[in-house]
Amino acid sequence: MSVATSVDGVAPSIWNAAHDVDARRPRSCQTQLGASDTVCGRRAAYILHGVTPTDQPDKRAAILGTYIHHGLLESARTEYGWLVERSVQDDLIRGHVDVVQLDANTAARLPARHRPVIPADVLTVEDVKTKSTYLWDRVVRYGATAAELRQVYLYAGALSEVGFENVPGQRYLARLGPLPIGRIRFRFINRDSGAEHLQEFDFDPQRAAEAQWWVERVRESQSPEDMPRDFHGPGLDAICDYCPFRSLCWPGAAPGVPEQTALIHNDADREQALIEYVQGHELASEGNRIKNFARKKLDQSPPGVYGSNRLSWRGGNDEEKDDVEAMVDLHEIAGIPVPMQPDADRMVKNLKEAGLPIPRRKTGRKTAPVISVGPA
Ligand code: SF4
Repeated sequence: MSVATSVDGVAPSIWNAAHDVDARRPRSCQTQLGASDTVCGRRAAYILHGVTPTDQPDKRAAILGTYIHHGLLESARTEYGWLVERSVQDDLIRGHVDVVQLDANTAARLPARHRPVIPADVLTVEDVKTKSTYLWDRVVRYGATAAELRQVYLYAGALSEVGFENVPGQRYLARLGPLPIGRIRFRFINRDSGAEHLQEFDFDPQRAAEAQWWVERVRESQSPEDMPRDFHGPGLDAICDYCPFRSLCWPGAAPGVPEQTALIHNDADREQALIEYVQGHELASEGNRIKNFARKKLDQSPPGVYGSNRLSWRGGNDEEKDDVEAMVDLHEIAGIPVPMQPDADRMVKNLKEAGLPIPRRKTGRKTAPVISVGPA
């Protein structure tokens, strides 16, 4: 594994071991389409057409997510008796559904030792997602992405039409047959703080059918290039930065040149890209106008929760700058020659090299207040 071969040239990085173990996981070796592969049409098509991955993206964040995921699900299994990581398979996908909470009627059809401690009021399919703080506000505000919804609906659809896969270790579950799914739940876990956020909604068979139709469309493609790229490429969408087919999907750019240049073939493409650029500019301008107007109106508003948003303020502190007179004094005390031309940058460097603090004094002005709006 090539992510990091050593730490300070002394010991091998422990991530090499983690990547090697991850590469041997059944999920990593699976060549069938898993629901988690349905994030992008082009990517799903590469997998379904048996194309060998061209890139080895850094998987450290994903591996950490897997560890957290595994620990939490295992605890839910032992403490609550939830069904975790059980396999499902239908004509379209194969994978493991994070959590299934059986309702009382369905649980009663199982041998007593397999029944959950507390059954759910309706049969619930749950997907656990770990997220970084960077994405947390978006998760709390908007919930699951379209691709995440498609993934959970593929699992829930397979469970409602087929039930659990009939494989050793869960034959007693497979005997239940198609399951009466009542609810979908996303459980988001903040990887940095541990915060937990739930999103729940009723199971909608129509949405499950749409997710299945999406996969069927990929299966009908004659080649991966028949499927559209669902993202804007490396540097713009992180999903592409970490895609194992990145070089195949976005080929041919010289070093330092954006991969997206591959999409421009002629003047007609340039004309279209310019139209999009102008549209984007107009949208951004209008967006800024709306935002600036609201910002002015809120200028004197106290922090607090207003509807679905929390208002807070940063800034408003005393502004500081280097105190040249104090630095001259410190130079004399420390026996450092004071530059004949006062040179703040040089004096800061001198003081740093001498291990002395950089004096700062108040300017009498305030730093500008910065608005901060997050979900309540
Ligand atoms: S690089 Fe991006 S657009 Fe291309 S297959 Fe991967 S995720 Fe899809």
